[in-house]
Amino acid sequence: MTTTKCPCGSGILMRDCCGAILDGRTKAETAEAMMRARYTAHVVGDFDFVANTHAAEVKKTYNKSAAQAQAETMQWVGLEIMETVEGGAGDDEGVVTFGARFMQDGVLNMHRERSNFRRENGVWVYVDGKINPQIEPRRIEKVGRNAPCPCGSGKKYKKCCGA
Ligand SMILES: [Zn+2]
Ligand SMILES: [Zn+2]
Repeated sequence: MTTTKCPCGSGILMRDCCGAILDGRTKAETAEAMMRARYTAHVVGDFDFVANTHAAEVKKTYNKSAAQAQAETMQWVGLEIMETVEGGAGDDEGVVTFGARFMQDGVLNMHRERSNFRRENGVWVYVDGKINPQIEPRRIEKVGRNAPCPCGSGKKYKKCCGA
């Protein structure tokens, strides 16, 4: 994992990007950085990080084992940040709209969400989100076993995320 590119799509190494936030070496400066780190936590299955970066009122209702069970049926393959509103180093609140692609049962899907973040004791936390703000959940395409993997690895789907 130390020499792989960060799953969040930043183009830099995992250890210098979300990896440093996940293992506590650095703090997310912005709401977007926290959003990216939470996406990467889903990719690598770090649900403790996900749980720990929820706002106080969300922590009570988060079901970690349900999230883990759901994660086993899907494979995250890409993140796209569509819009950020505030959430900068000097802000206490921020909104991040993103699209996250995932494979499930051989079908590429997109989870779109407009997420609200807030700073609690200096740390960005996830408050809530509006899922699929403009569009209904939709199927994008069926990915063939021999097609290039949608995660961008350059390998065939069956040899990569479809394995
Ligand atoms: Zn990253
Ligand atoms: Zn892949």
